[in-house]
Amino acid sequence: MSREVVSAVIRGAKGFFEEAEASLAEAIAKHGGDHQVEFPGTAFQLPMIHALMGLEVGKLDQLPAVLEHCRDLLPDEPAEKLFLPYLGNALDAGVAALLSLETICAIRYLNGQAGDDGFTGFISDSILRELGIQLVDGRMPGFAAILGPAPSDEIAVHTVRELQKRSILSFLVANRDGKSMRDQLDDQGVEMGWDTYIVPVGRDIHSSIYVLDWAIRGALTFGGHERGDWRNCLRYCRERIFAFGITFGAIPDDWYAVGAGAIAMGFPVISDDPSTPEIRATGVTTYEALVRQTDHTQLVPTCIQVRGVKVKVEKVDIPVSFSPAFEGERVRKEEMHVQVGGKYSNAVELLEMVDGDAIVDGQTDVHGKDFDAVEEGGAIDLGLHVQVAGRKMQKDFEGILERQIHRYCNEAMGFMHTGQRDQIWCRLSKASFAAGFRLSHIGTIMHAKIHDEYGGIVDKVAVTITTDSGEVEQIAKRSRPLFDARDERVAGMTDESVDTFYSCTMCQSFAPNHVCVITPERLGLCGAYNWLDGQASYEINPTGPNQPILKGKCLDERAGEFEGINRFVYDNTSQTVERFSAYSIMENPMTSCGCFECIVAIVPEANGVMAVNREYAGDTPIGMPFSTLAGSVGGGLQTPGFLGTGRLYLTSGKFISAEGGLPRLVWMPRELKEDVRGKMEKAAAALNLDGFVDKIADETIATTSEELLEHLAKVDHPALKMDPLI
Ligand code: SF4
Repeated sequence: MSREVVSAVIRGAKGFFEEAEASLAEAIAKHGGDHQVEFPGTAFQLPMIHALMGLEVGKLDQLPAVLEHCRDLLPDEPAEKLFLPYLGNALDAGVAALLSLETICAIRYLNGQAGDDGFTGFISDSILRELGIQLVDGRMPGFAAILGPAPSDEIAVHTVRELQKRSILSFLVANRDGKSMRDQLDDQGVEMGWDTYIVPVGRDIHSSIYVLDWAIRGALTFGGHERGDWRNCLRYCRERIFAFGITFGAIPDDWYAVGAGAIAMGFPVISDDPSTPEIRATGVTTYEALVRQTDHTQLVPTCIQVRGVKVKVEKVDIPVSFSPAFEGERVRKEEMHVQVGGKYSNAVELLEMVDGDAIVDGQTDVHGKDFDAVEEGGAIDLGLHVQVAGRKMQKDFEGILERQIHRYCNEAMGFMHTGQRDQIWCRLSKASFAAGFRLSHIGTIMHAKIHDEYGGIVDKVAVTITTDSGEVEQIAKRSRPLFDARDERVAGMTDESVDTFYSCTMCQSFAPNHVCVITPERLGLCGAYNWLDGQASYEINPTGPNQPILKGKCLDERAGEFEGINRFVYDNTSQTVERFSAYSIMENPMTSCGCFECIVAIVPEANGVMAVNREYAGDTPIGMPFSTLAGSVGGGLQTPGFLGTGRLYLTSGKFISAEGGLPRLVWMPRELKEDVRGKMEKAAAALNLDGFVDKIADETIATTSEELLEHLAKVDHPALKMDPLI
């Protein structure tokens, strides 16, 4: 710790101590030691002394013992040359400053000199209860003690507005040359008070004790800690009360002393002054203790990051209603203003974890033309790039958060989203377009919902949305290896190597009786969730849509039927689906929602199956295009002979293994075949099926069953010699 900081803290604390000694001596001389001393509206007498020392101070002559304790705590200033960094000295001095300040302020109340006009002074227990509950249950994510004035009125307004936006309470204390931040906000016509979360507490630095008294009573009231249990009271403040200090301008000694007291309570201090030395992580606060941020636009985001405040955005501020009630809503062609993705345009969504300094929380950049520039009924390319940062965020969580984009978009009235990754298809209704919904609102939704649901791991969210075709292609190009890397993580694991599969019930808003059962060798049918994602998702949110399912007793090894899985599926499909086979298309296959990347369907005359992907709009040998098939396969139904799947399941060793597996595959669109060729060739080689992938027909070879049968006979396709499928 900087000698400069420690020296300033000790000098400041000694100043408060001497002031407390003098005012106590004067008060005892004037009123007598038996005179009552208290703050108004509290059952905790002098709360800091009550919590840290265990003393129930009611009379003046109990205060000398407090100052004796302060004297013991106050160390000497470090010597010029023989200084050993020692954080404890500064923290002890900080605590002595708080105890001295409480003594001074209590005597001010006794002398009737407590409050300045327009400032609250001491904060009562009733306000503590009212707002403190919000603080500890997370509705109010934290509070800031701002020691100011700010360098300009604009910076003062900007700072409190940034805090207000995040529901963080601002306490205003201290002044310079008589000017406080309250004066600045007043000049700018900013409304202040408890209702607006901007509370002027006192004009001088002494009043900062009222803010810290408010916090320490949280430990006594909501934490249930006993008076005198200083260790647990301080720990409670650090772990449960997300407070921090902001100081504007060069920090004087007395501010340093209060700051050290705040740091002892676990509250970091962020200074805008370029000369402030930094104190990095020491273990007293959750992260850093004293941080410099000279860019005022970054001041509040830095505070949030340093304190680890979990921001909640109460309202999703968009011009249409936002609720899970709209999740299952469809936007039909005739109701549509514009669409993106599907077979109509290029579209991709990608969520990536980045370094905290790389993004500004809440920033949404829109590039290219907006929805207004598209003719009604038209289509537009779209790239959605969400970047998140958080100290607890992990690379493994990217896919899980990315998959939430689907749900979040669907909660906006009149905005329909299906698919994932570079397979999305969205529609915006005419009504929602007329209400003012534009691209930037997608960013608003992402910011609010990710903070709301994943605030435990994400501190910052920034969004870039582009409709520029070149930029969309760049995002798509960048995302492909990332998607592949996510899929590869699970390669090598087998279903037999685990005793637990994972559920996914996220699509139940569209298909109430659909459960994806995700196994190491069978990913979710949207292609976005594999077994490791299910595991990580459960870790982040143990009550969320991905639950571990113990396989239990194996009922049929060939079909992949397990007692535990059957029970889970039955209980989670409103008791509709009684039996579930993980590896069969014919017997109790998995239900399908509407997000599948592909549909696998039997081709009875070929004794095999075909696979068709969402992007393929042409004819198939069974006479139905993807769109017609999707209408009968989706919706959460169990349809023997048809299966919604992820692309990669086609290359799995467990691909319809109950019916003989990969050798059954007789037809698939060329694009799909080329996309999975590498993995499929490996799967075929494992089955000693040399040259098999080229035996599978595609649309350039056959689009009718006659053409297909002719091709299969010509290439001696193995399906023709397998046991009858029906
Ligand atoms: S398709 Fe399956 S895995 Fe994908 S989000 Fe829906 S329920 Fe989950």
